[in-house]
Amino acid sequence: MAASSLYKTQELKIYNSISGQKEVFTPITEGNIGMYVCGPTVYSNVHLGNCRTFISFDLIFRYLKHLDYKVRYVRNITDAGHLENDADEGEDKVAKKARLEQLEPMEIVQRYTLDFHQVMDKFNAFPPSIEPTATGHIIEQIEIIKTIIDNGFAYESNGSIYFDVQKFNKTNHYGKLSGRNLEDMIANTRELSAQSDKKNPQDFALWKKADPQHIMRWPSPWSDGFPGWHLECTVMSTKYLGERFDIHGGGMDLKFPHHECEIAQGEAACGQTPVNYWMHANMLTLNGKKMSKSTGNTISPEELFSGNNDILNKAFDPAIVRFFMLQAHYRSILDFSNDALEASEKGYHKLMEAIQTNKSITPDQETTGFNVQAWRQECYNAMNDDFNSPILIAKLFDAVKFINTIKEQKTTISAEDHQLLSKTISAFVFDVLGLVNANETSSDIGDKLSGTVDLLINLRAEARINKDFATSDKIRDKLLEIGIQLKDGREGTSFSIN
Ligand SMILES: [Zn+2]
Repeated sequence: MAASSLYKTQELKIYNSISGQKEVFTPITEGNIGMYVCGPTVYSNVHLGNCRTFISFDLIFRYLKHLDYKVRYVRNITDAGHLENDADEGEDKVAKKARLEQLEPMEIVQRYTLDFHQVMDKFNAFPPSIEPTATGHIIEQIEIIKTIIDNGFAYESNGSIYFDVQKFNKTNHYGKLSGRNLEDMIANTRELSAQSDKKNPQDFALWKKADPQHIMRWPSPWSDGFPGWHLECTVMSTKYLGERFDIHGGGMDLKFPHHECEIAQGEAACGQTPVNYWMHANMLTLNGKKMSKSTGNTISPEELFSGNNDILNKAFDPAIVRFFMLQAHYRSILDFSNDALEASEKGYHKLMEAIQTNKSITPDQETTGFNVQAWRQECYNAMNDDFNSPILIAKLFDAVKFINTIKEQKTTISAEDHQLLSKTISAFVFDVLGLVNANETSSDIGDKLSGTVDLLINLRAEARINKDFATSDKIRDKLLEIGIQLKDGREGTSFSIN
């Protein structure tokens, strides 16, 4: 099994944000990958920009699996500790929403976790292997704070615990991921306000003492309070993937301070840097401008799927939106606009039609005008080059062109090549890009439904032959209850769906 693993024949390169270079990917344990991605803070409906980040990592997860790696993909749910403005002061985002809507914080968490899962499901994204929550790991967070204090990198101040960035920077480099250095940060920050508990403005909270009105609170050796936002990711990644693991991903906006702080916490607690490859997905713009609720330049996934919005001309199927997103590289900014989405929709249908056409092709003696073997490796080369999905899609369209020339009888394909072509298209379109053929799935369900009703019609006919009218009536009545009406005619029984 392992001898035939695809990863042994493909050299994957990943752009590592910490080195700013594409590096050959080598996992810590051969054949196994640990990948952590920062998940959503569940205090509102999932943002389309976040969807793009998670779809980017879904592509990466799918390709790593396709290469026969065994991947443990951990993506957390932030349900506590994420304060407004991503800072150490202010209200907890979940608690604030709970206060405004007069609900329990966990009702807010449940509502928006469900919404997030439903949207990701519509985008045909795989769920992660483990989806841990911050509130489910308070004990582990308290334990790691104790370790960081014991190692001399954190201090207590009025019941809160802060990470001592200046002390850490004497032996380690705070700022290496985001390309900053502490001297510049100090020069560019304002003085601390008089009421701050911190020694220095760069220090960040590991534990915050809760104000009396703060409802999400837990006991700790220092105070009744709550953990800092950055800490949960250090705890949940190292708990499930080890003190050092292969890939850590997230949106570009999380690089600083969130991921910088994760590195500092990991090094301070475990004495080694936590992550080998840092990956950051770029953001989404709408009509060339940053998406923003305050300017109205924003669209939610639901508004996009339903067409219920003032920004785009029509509704777009999630499969088409996914295809559109994957037509840009994950590290490029992607702009949403009518024209771009409509162009993607056309491309998507062209691709799906060619896949249908390919099924009905009759192979010939030999292949002319296309090198299937070389093309297949080019598809792999695209993905091996830092998951370059736009290049992969361009390669798939080379195959579309070829299929159409076979259909027009301008070229031919051998049986062996046809098999390889079909297998490769299916692997990249459905397994790696994660596209679904929207038309095919609905007609597939239609076929299954009519097969099932036909079966019931036959059972009913048999019951009538056996004069078991109770059963035959029951079948007719129960079907009617769920909206399927049987009609007995001279040519037998037919049905209609009401
Ligand atoms: Zn995180």
